[in-house]
Amino acid sequence: MTHRHNFIIAIDGFSSCGKSTVAKALAKKLKFVFIDSGAMYRAVTLYFMREQIDLENGEAVANALENIHIDFIPNSDKTEIHLNDEDISDEIRQMYISDKVSEVSTIKAVRTAMVAQQQKLGKRRNIVMDGRDIGTTVFPDADLKIFMTADPQVRAARRYLELLSKGEQVTMEEIIKNLAHRDHIDSTREESPLRKAEDAIVLDNSHMTQEDQLTFVIDEYTKRRASK
Ligand code: C5P
Repeated sequence: MTHRHNFIIAIDGFSSCGKSTVAKALAKKLKFVFIDSGAMYRAVTLYFMREQIDLENGEAVANALENIHIDFIPNSDKTEIHLNDEDISDEIRQMYISDKVSEVSTIKAVRTAMVAQQQKLGKRRNIVMDGRDIGTTVFPDADLKIFMTADPQVRAARRYLELLSKGEQVTMEEIIKNLAHRDHIDSTREESPLRKAEDAIVLDNSHMTQEDQLTFVIDEYTKRRASK
């Protein structure tokens, strides 16, 4: 229980567990604002790659971060993510960004800047935010914390179908490798590694439909809301 008036739902978990799908459906149902924190790390990665920032050069990284402005812009049924006023929603889902984003996300200065922005986005609004460190670092006092996980084969198959439907040429092998690689870096990095917050509820959705998952989370939400 907190003294805040707004309600914060944190959804963390491994890559490609369907966090955003649940988070989006939940936000729509509850009329909360959905914030995809992974998209922010992807936006930073895109900027660093375009500007060829040397990740080992602290000064270059700090300067680059000063020039990065990220916005979430609601547009009919979806929310666009903008990097310095450019819509980069599709670009950041590509494999070359997925291959680099976890490395960029280990950088302390990057995390400090993103966490500050995420905390600002959660001020005085009801939000659902998904990511890796939302319940542990960004909003340790979140009103509801969900930790999502799923069988690695199931996750890879889902991601494969998603990328295929977007016309990207990838193989299952590449995806399995990318997911394992990101999970490893995300869980072992020094700065706010991916881990379940002690008070988070585990949701293993390997064998659950999207509707089942939404019902599960809404039930938890209803319980928490009553006691807030
Ligand atoms: O959620 P998504 O898979 O798009 O996130 C991309 C990457 O961004 C993750 O693999 C992780 O390295 C990083 N990330 C993070 N902290 C968050 C959200 C994402 O480090 N809160």
